[in-house]
Amino acid sequence: MPIATVNPATGWTELTFEPLGSEEIEERLRRAAAAFDRYRTTGFADRADLLRRAAELLDEDTPDIALTITSEMGKPVKAARAEAAKCARTMRWYAEHAEALLADEHPDDGDVRDSGASRAYVRYRPLGVVLAVMPWNFPLWQVVRFAAPALMAGNVGLLKHASNVPQTALYLEDLFLRAGFDEGCFQTLLVGSGAIEGILRDDRVAAVTLTGSEGAGRSVAAIAGDEIKKTVLELGGSDPFVVMPSADVDAAARTAVTARTQNAGQSCIAAKRFIVHADVYDAFLERFAAGMRDLTVGDPADEDTDVGPLSSEQGRADLEELVDDAVRRGATAVCGGGRPKELERGFYYEPTVLTGITPEMRVHREETFGPVATVYRVADLEEAIAVANDTSFGLSSNAWTTDPAEQERFVRDLQAGGVYFNGMTASHPAFPFGGVKRSGFGRELSAHGIKEFCNTTTVWHG
Ligand code: NDP
Repeated sequence: MPIATVNPATGWTELTFEPLGSEEIEERLRRAAAAFDRYRTTGFADRADLLRRAAELLDEDTPDIALTITSEMGKPVKAARAEAAKCARTMRWYAEHAEALLADEHPDDGDVRDSGASRAYVRYRPLGVVLAVMPWNFPLWQVVRFAAPALMAGNVGLLKHASNVPQTALYLEDLFLRAGFDEGCFQTLLVGSGAIEGILRDDRVAAVTLTGSEGAGRSVAAIAGDEIKKTVLELGGSDPFVVMPSADVDAAARTAVTARTQNAGQSCIAAKRFIVHADVYDAFLERFAAGMRDLTVGDPADEDTDVGPLSSEQGRADLEELVDDAVRRGATAVCGGGRPKELERGFYYEPTVLTGITPEMRVHREETFGPVATVYRVADLEEAIAVANDTSFGLSSNAWTTDPAEQERFVRDLQAGGVYFNGMTASHPAFPFGGVKRSGFGRELSAHGIKEFCNTTTVWHG
């Protein structure tokens, strides 16, 4: 894959970059290791000042970097600005909370005495150089979600970003440098995925975090496993969105439209499978499809656009194959189902609602990374849970019900890293984020995320 900005709204290649050669990679590894030696001994207050400065700069840069993001991966510019704002908030959140999250832990006095110690505690120390392999769909957020806690913990980062967002990748390196972080604390490596193995096997790299596809996750985790290096994986999702009879069907349908089409549907935590109780199925489907038809699809640089193009021609081709396979096997496209006729250039796809889904269709098993929803009719709670769990993924889940007993059943039985009631999944720095099953392992954000890349150290005094 060439390292290039290809504008998804036009299909034109705007800028290409030469990947780093082996000597340049070696120089950056050396710099990262040297930076960690110095940076690991800095205090929380100094790190927090640097991160707050990065947040300030990001706020100032937002109008420009938002346009860059839009030109690289096609998200509506208003969504790109919102992404930048969320990154700045998260930097400030970790600047404020990291010291408390990583404070020494003191076990009960009785347990300390029982261990034979006069004094004992747990200290969270940084792990070292962490490699981040990141995707294009939230090109700032996916990186900041890793970088803010990692830097606050005293680690340093090496970013291998997706090959289609090189300008955003270089911007991030520049941002941390301008904020005052030491050279080497956060570096972007413009390399293809073929270079990852050598970098990950290097002794100077302590750990890896990857957000992306199952294939990329499997490959990186296999290498990290072979090297016995800590790994966090955040992979795909096919999140269920269950609507039960007690739900506010209007609100559920409105939220469903946003939950499915945010970022043109290219989000791991987008709701993808809509599982609706028979009592409210017709009402929900009618309102949901109407909302999907009403969306403004078009130029992502336009302030009024709701749904921009998909990020790449390949991404759209993959989605088309899934929809065509379903329709060939008997699914109905209640709306959408193809390319918008009036948008000939660019990688656009219509917001689409499919019904009549059967298990042999690929859309039933695979992640639809675009604005395509599948809707299922279920008879009762048992069937809703069974359909929701009938997937290899387990990232997050949504359920619409005001019945406390049903809510408890969903919390007990939904196989996912999150259960969101009467709303849609959205990450927040205070809550852990990650999945089970083939959605990956480990957690990002919150105290759980910052501790993933720490050396949890027992300190014991005789
Ligand atoms: P990829 O998983 O291919 O890309 C994500 C990152 O992994 C990029 O930096 C990419 O580099 C790198 N990568 C790709 N292949 C390998 C590999 N074999 N070993 C190591 N690193 C690798 O995502 P795509 O862009 O191809 O999207 C494909 C599908 O992945 C989507 O349809 C969606 O299902 C899923 N996905 C999920 C995301 C999420 O948020 N969970 C985000 C993006 C995609 P490079 O760009 O150089 O190939």
